[in-house]
Amino acid sequence: MHIPFDNSYATLPETFYTRLEPTSVSAPKLLAFNKELAALLGIEAGDVEELAAVFGGNEIPQNAAPLAQLYAGHQFGSYNPQLGDGRAILLGEVIGTDGIRRDIQLKGSGRTPYSRMGDGRAWMGPVLREYVVSEAMHALGIPTTRALAAVSTGEPIWREQGAFPGAVLTRVAQSHLRVGTFQVFAHRGEIDNLKTLTDYAIERHYPEANGPMDLLRAVCAVQADLVTRWMSVGFIHGVMNTDNCAISGETIDYGPCAFMDAFHQNRVFSSIDQQGRYAFGNQPGIAVWNMAQLATSLVQMFEDKENAVAEATEIVHAMPKQLEDGWLRRFAAKIGIAKPTKEDTALIEGLLGLMQTDGADFTNTFRALGRPEARDQFTDREAFDAWEAKWRSRIATEADTEGTMAAANPAIIPRNHRIEQMIEAAVAGDMAPFERLMHALARPFEETDADLMRPPTEDEIVPATFCG
Ligand code: AMP
Ligand code: MG
Ligand code: MG
Repeated sequence: MHIPFDNSYATLPETFYTRLEPTSVSAPKLLAFNKELAALLGIEAGDVEELAAVFGGNEIPQNAAPLAQLYAGHQFGSYNPQLGDGRAILLGEVIGTDGIRRDIQLKGSGRTPYSRMGDGRAWMGPVLREYVVSEAMHALGIPTTRALAAVSTGEPIWREQGAFPGAVLTRVAQSHLRVGTFQVFAHRGEIDNLKTLTDYAIERHYPEANGPMDLLRAVCAVQADLVTRWMSVGFIHGVMNTDNCAISGETIDYGPCAFMDAFHQNRVFSSIDQQGRYAFGNQPGIAVWNMAQLATSLVQMFEDKENAVAEATEIVHAMPKQLEDGWLRRFAAKIGIAKPTKEDTALIEGLLGLMQTDGADFTNTFRALGRPEARDQFTDREAFDAWEAKWRSRIATEADTEGTMAAANPAIIPRNHRIEQMIEAAVAGDMAPFERLMHALARPFEETDADLMRPPTEDEIVPATFCG
């Protein structure tokens, strides 16, 4: 196998990371491999045994520079001064056939100096969940890390609920720089390191940016866009801690994430989010909060703090408007309005209000608008009829309602119950449900699999998700 490594992070100061290799596993077996992504990365893949050896962490490919990255972060609002890759190892970077530099990282590859109490491992459930959901996000056109490979380790992993089969995910990202990477140096007062990191981030992601304030502006813009995209497909990230907030604007860290079935603004899946901090409707506010933490870090490197704080504050305070505009544009498209005005907000919120009261399915309601099936989503049908009448008069002047809606409303999302069923089968050695999901989710706007479009039955509902 040949991976055309071109490593840049490993040339940064040694305090940014710890060099170490993945811990070997006893019986690596390839569960999944993303050939299309491998081709984009310029990887010449070997046979199945070699893929399992490399992406299970037993064999270090030539020219890799394996290391665990240092970072900190706010977890549920409280600052943790040292997190870092506790179970991940960056193998190195490649420049793809599209000219974009990307990290290749193993997740679940053993303990590191940043593991704290953790075992450095992951089990098959979260590994396959991340594989499926991140690739589904990509197919939906939403910026995200991607999945290159999944390998089972042949070793058991102990979690609260018992023993589970271990696995390693190979994750690909435009970088793993996070808000928390800036925070660690800012909080320690290591201004030189903070400057080095800032220059590195600008060169890698926003080469047109002129200095830290421009970087902040760029990251605020991509984060605002990302969160409105999540909301437009009913996605709940679940752990929007600052260490899970990527500078690149990619969705990162698919832990207890989920797509909603029945719509509710306060919907939470994560078993550890007791207060609902990261509930569906809180995500825009949290994105702003996270950018305020990035701003707080970046201003530390300015001599004239007062001016820097004023400028950074202005940039962060511009974000709610960006979020509102993005939300309006994306949700208007979902009801067939290509160029919305402020007045359309009430129409969208009217529908969401009815959906929330009646527990309408988020994906299927939007997908069915204009057809009798939409009405079936509601228990208060008269209220829906009244809304629909208003809607029809509004869209009368739209050129291509159907086209706008078809491009904004996916038919197939990775529903939570399907993911759980897929994991159960995979643990039992049956990868067919995984393959079926991957196949359908690759074309989410096509109604290719009616059964995957169906919401869960009462028995199938998965109310909570776990970090793994
Ligand atoms: P997360 O909530 O997944 O973003 O993880 C937060 C922090 O905990 C990161 O520093 C992870 O590397 C670390 N971590 C999570 N799970 C484990 C584990 N099983 N072993 C070691 N570190 C872990
Ligand atoms: Mg070091
Ligand atoms: Mg994380």
